[in-house]
Amino acid sequence: MEVVLQHITKRFPSRDKNNPADVIAVNDFDLTIPDGKLVCLLGPSGCGKSTLLNMISGLAKPSDGHIFFGDVDVTALPPENRGIGLVFQNYALYPHLTVRQNIRFPLENLKGDRKLSKEAMEEKVQEAAKLVQITQYLERKPSELSGGQQQRVAIARALVKGPGVLLLDEPLSNLDARLRLQTREEIRRIQQETGVTTIFVTHDQEEAMSISDEIIVMETGFKRQVGHPQEVYDHPCSLFVAKFLGTPQINVFDGRIAGGKLYIGDEAVLDFPGFPDQEVNVGIRPEGFIPAENGAFSFERSSVEVMGRDVSIVGKHPAFQGASIRAIVSSLNKIDTTATVDRFSLVPEKVHVFDKNTGAVLTLAAKEKE
Ligand code: ADP
Ligand code: MG
Repeated sequence: MEVVLQHITKRFPSRDKNNPADVIAVNDFDLTIPDGKLVCLLGPSGCGKSTLLNMISGLAKPSDGHIFFGDVDVTALPPENRGIGLVFQNYALYPHLTVRQNIRFPLENLKGDRKLSKEAMEEKVQEAAKLVQITQYLERKPSELSGGQQQRVAIARALVKGPGVLLLDEPLSNLDARLRLQTREEIRRIQQETGVTTIFVTHDQEEAMSISDEIIVMETGFKRQVGHPQEVYDHPCSLFVAKFLGTPQINVFDGRIAGGKLYIGDEAVLDFPGFPDQEVNVGIRPEGFIPAENGAFSFERSSVEVMGRDVSIVGKHPAFQGASIRAIVSSLNKIDTTATVDRFSLVPEKVHVFDKNTGAVLTLAAKEKE
């Protein structure tokens, strides 16, 4: 099922006497989520992800705008008439019901010609349980399951009616690290097996990058960038997006463009034609540093961390905006352990230059001119 959002806005009345302006949790959101894809709404806490998801599910009403499922305008439909499955962070299973009864629950309320026989219900329960691999726990109560297993039950319950759209709000946040990894792979597998259009909310960029066909990066209620995870990582539209994606974080320096060259401190680190002279922010991905004796850029070394496959060179620079620069280089490089300064050439694709005032990327504009 394709999902289309048109000018979706959600305003909440302010409860703050000193700041009476409405809170705009979601701001004029336009988005098309293609049929059969898994997309992530990604952004920091408070950026409006849950509010947006709640409007798609029907739990909340937009202040403005329209939501379409396929050709149908569902904006005014209650959740139960939208054909959706919902999964939340806190599984929300009925504690007094068995796993089987929990999964069957949504089927028992079907009315009229959608009403199912006992046998048909059992068949659907089995199918959903098999999909999430919990068939052996059907007689247990939720309290007798691990967090990961409980979340699988919640997913089975969300899928049992064969929804057109599956909505998940931070479904992995209550799981420990190992289970989080495993369950996110499971969700991806289930999504691909069923082909259900899936909207997954998370604040965890790694989670979003690893499972999505597309990510939608949000900031303060706004849609900032939409695209395949690699595309967004490689071509961030703003400093905010560049900083939000990637671990370790992109290294940000004060820089300037002068005479078609990009400077950090006194060093001209890259050719950067096509822009007037100006102060800029320069982001360099950790993998953008190539150790080179005659490289154009250098920084003072603080330490070297050996990580097996890679080596992390940690350092300082007067123009650096954070605490420590991190350059990640292959361990095949011979690192002089006695050196106090490291010199690098920079990989141009890994260097992103941003407008000092707006944060908008400058390389993107140059690309469009090509
Ligand atoms: P996220 O899920 O991205 O963490 P939310 O969608 O929960 O963010 O919240 C977005 C913004 O809207 C926040 O500033 C939050 O405080 C505000 N907000 C959410 N729900 C309400 C509400 N019922 N009343 C007032 N403000 C709300
Ligand atoms: Mg939320």
